[in-house]
Amino acid sequence: MQQPSKVLLIYTGGTIGMVQDVDSNALHPFDFSQISAEIPELNKLNCVIETIAFDVPIDSSDIGPSDWNRLANAIQQNYANYDGFIVLHGTDTMAYTASALSFMLEGLNKPVILTGSQLPIGVLRTDGKENLLTAIELAGDKDENGKPMVGEVAIYFEYKLIRGNRAHKTSTSHFDAFNSPNFRILAEAGVNIEYKNHHISPFGNGELKVVELHEQGIFVLPIFPGMAQDQVEFVLESNKNWAVILMTFGAGNIPMKPWFIDAIKNAVAKEKMVVNITQCTKGKVNMNLYKNGQILKSIGVIGGSDITSEAALAKLMYLKEKNLSIKELKTQFERPLRGEMTL
Ligand code: ASP
Repeated sequence: MQQPSKVLLIYTGGTIGMVQDVDSNALHPFDFSQISAEIPELNKLNCVIETIAFDVPIDSSDIGPSDWNRLANAIQQNYANYDGFIVLHGTDTMAYTASALSFMLEGLNKPVILTGSQLPIGVLRTDGKENLLTAIELAGDKDENGKPMVGEVAIYFEYKLIRGNRAHKTSTSHFDAFNSPNFRILAEAGVNIEYKNHHISPFGNGELKVVELHEQGIFVLPIFPGMAQDQVEFVLESNKNWAVILMTFGAGNIPMKPWFIDAIKNAVAKEKMVVNITQCTKGKVNMNLYKNGQILKSIGVIGGSDITSEAALAKLMYLKEKNLSIKELKTQFERPLRGEMTL
């Protein structure tokens, strides 16, 4: 038998970590240091699991850059001692955290797998047990040369392993809650775990470096019919916003109102990043396709191709930390850095 793998499980909060009190039936957060008492099946895995937890578990709606920094630093501090990492996280913002970590963890060559559940782990029909057990298996899995099978940040949910910065929460009620609309999945768990090796990102060099995120000045603006001029101008003119992500119609279109174009031109002239991503779940922005898009491109709007809004936000936060010139920032944004977009 292969030597047992070592996996570090970091519990942040969310639905998965709840168990039902036998007497009162009330749900309360589960003590993850007692994990194998709660899930005896874990003892059957050829894996040593150690856990750390946020002092106060949080609903993932409360997550932000400071929590991402805590997570990334915890992974870095423990990097040499474990084969892989599991982040247990609420589902609501899991795709944001996965996107952020994918950029923050430079040089990563071990699996960092986020998972959670739609029903608490202490509920009879929970999806949490399967999600957790398989995520641990994935995080500890190695090939015949002892190399991890995955060296990137991913989400495991309901039999699918998805690249973290491609993931999107698509359901509040189905167990199959996450999708990877524009990129094929990395692995599928059935009777066996089937890795799709062609889709897994190239491994980093293993010298893990954390880039902490702090940036707040990014605004995501979904476009809708009947938007008012003063609303649009308010967002694009505000000094608080150095970057505005326009979530546009279809392949990257907005209403061709002269005031809209002027507001964008003024923002670009002030060296703000104005990014164009589509509000469609599937497909990409192509600013060459329609006259609308061509105009946006000609006034300096940056195309986000098929990036998700979660990944666009994280990528801008990450690039802002690099102190790049606006020209270089635009160039970097338009190219895939962690497999987050297809050109
Ligand atoms: N509101 C919860 C959270 O995101 C939902 C969940 O865990 O699924 O923390």
